[in-house]
Amino acid sequence: MAIKKNQICIICGNRFTIMEGLFLRDLSDTLKEQVLKTNSYAKESSFICLKDMQKLRIENMQTMIDQDLRIDQEMSDKLKKELEKDTYVITNINDTVYAKRTTGQRLADAVAKFGGSWGFIISFTLLPLFLLYG
Ligand SMILES: [Zn+2]
Repeated sequence: MAIKKNQICIICGNRFTIMEGLFLRDLSDTLKEQVLKTNSYAKESSFICLKDMQKLRIENMQTMIDQDLRIDQEMSDKLKKELEKDTYVITNINDTVYAKRTTGQRLADAVAKFGGSWGFIISFTLLPLFLLYG
């Protein structure tokens, strides 16, 4: 027994089997809105074939990409304007943090500086030789 093509797509108007599409009620709100924009007569029980469904999804993705690009362009324009003003101040945050060290942190830095110095490494290497010699 053949499956009857008893569903009519509200977009292309062709006949399809129930397996070849979706009903408006099965779509996400975004896609529903998109269908209702161009087909105001569409109901929850309206059928949309898979090919038109795919077109809708691609259009939806393209809209999202375009929105993102627009936002990106706006941000880029704002940044460009600010940079053209040439009134910004560049601060190295490391200098600020370095100047605000506590006494303990200054001492730890001094110890680390000495412990990592060549003088310390060489003297520490020579110490066992000196002890053996002695
Ligand atoms: Zn269709």
